[in-house]
Amino acid sequence: MNVSVVLFTSDLRVHDHPPLRAALDGSSAVVPLFVRDRAVDTAGFAAPNRLAFLADCLRDLDTGLRERGGHLVFRSGDVVDQVCRVVTEADADDVHMAAGASAYAHRREERLRTALESEGRRLHVHDTVITALAPGAVTPAASDHFAVFTPYFRHWARQQPRNVLGAPRAVPVQEGIGSEALPRRGDLSGLSEGLAEGGEREGRKRLTAWLRSGIGSYEDRHDDLPGDATSRLSPHLHFGTLSPVELVHRARKAGGPGAEAFVRQLAWRDFHHQVLAARPDAGTTDYRTRRDLWRSQTSAARDIDAWKEGRTGYPVVDAAMRQLRYEGWMHNRGRLLTASFLTKTLYVDWRVGARHFLELLVDGDIANNQLNWQWVAGTGTDTRPNRVLNPVLQGKRYDPDGTYVRRWVPELEGLDGAAVHEPWKLKGLERAAHDYPEPIVELADGLARFKHARGRA
Ligand code: FAD
Repeated sequence: MNVSVVLFTSDLRVHDHPPLRAALDGSSAVVPLFVRDRAVDTAGFAAPNRLAFLADCLRDLDTGLRERGGHLVFRSGDVVDQVCRVVTEADADDVHMAAGASAYAHRREERLRTALESEGRRLHVHDTVITALAPGAVTPAASDHFAVFTPYFRHWARQQPRNVLGAPRAVPVQEGIGSEALPRRGDLSGLSEGLAEGGEREGRKRLTAWLRSGIGSYEDRHDDLPGDATSRLSPHLHFGTLSPVELVHRARKAGGPGAEAFVRQLAWRDFHHQVLAARPDAGTTDYRTRRDLWRSQTSAARDIDAWKEGRTGYPVVDAAMRQLRYEGWMHNRGRLLTASFLTKTLYVDWRVGARHFLELLVDGDIANNQLNWQWVAGTGTDTRPNRVLNPVLQGKRYDPDGTYVRRWVPELEGLDGAAVHEPWKLKGLERAAHDYPEPIVELADGLARFKHARGRA
């Protein structure tokens, strides 16, 4: 009897799962395995919100496998060590898994390959599980990756992603492989109160609702802060409870300008993954070197705290930062303007902001988080690295009536309309009536500091 192990990583689903399909096609029994790798905890990447969402996903994956006659084996420890143990216990010849883009994923793959091959076993790494197109599937003539999105997208859009695979009818498993108890969300503390629920079934429900009633207006409304009119599928894409290949196909089938704009965002996701795959150190170091110096973390400590806590005195910045803390998620427009405020108005190193986002974001992702931070900070792939987003203008434009600010900043809920974006303009008693901080920085000073520092670079 030929047994294969399927190592699940950021692909916690049974639908459209090439490693599972290949393992089922090539063997008489499989061992679906997830290892909670100690290295991820040691690297500080195991944030409570993501662990809670992960716990939901693992339980749901187990259910999905049980409905097909199988179940999930859960282990914790060193990933290579645990995979090798399971392979030996099951006497498996093959291990199937998805390709990852990060430095961690590359190292894991190399270590696994060496360990398995030294025992005469085989590792099969499948691409287009975590991204719609594999990193490297489209490249410019003179480089291993695209450094600018627009030409990347031109090539990306011409490619047809592979066909979607259905969920298997049956998953025959090798019995007798020991498993630890699956983690539970309820065992975790420090979670955001409004954290979304994880799991493939939840993801598929959201996707269906999105295709039915959200995607059509996406082009017009994706920047509407109070309207909250984006898909909120990012955590499902991060944990792979939804397949990006399936999303591209289904969105294209839905058709129309909303679907086109949505597919373009999925291409941004692939874009950042192909940058990270080619430059794994972009998760920690500047993709493009800037010679100017950020303010030191010590001199900026008070500003950084105010930014994290949502009390900078700039209402739309504070609203977005509070949404992040409460939901473990933030609207893309909020991410752009809060990141710009930290890096270009307060002039703080992007890594400080990226780290804070990773502590809270349920979709927190090395490719998307670090490279978007670098994009905003001007160290990444933005072709206009010196653009600065003015938080007052951004508020007035994307939250014209102030509804988003009043939702997240209750101190200002008594202010009508767009007045909420400039509370410092209120006079006397009205100003004294709300308990909201004064701006921690004058925008003109921030801009001057930025220009001065960039001018020296
Ligand atoms: P939708 O607007 O519905 O978009 C659909 C999908 O496209 C998203 O789920 C996401 O997978 C992808 N997508 C959309 N915009 C981007 C983008 N700019 N870059 C890459 N993929 C995109 N996204 C993450 O998934 N994880 C992160 O850690 C993350 N950190 C970010 C940090 C900063 C500073 C910025 C500016 C953006 C970040 N993004 C991140 C990108 C984007 O903000 C989120 O993907 C989006 O807000 C998720 O909401 P949604 O699912 O409703 O998106």
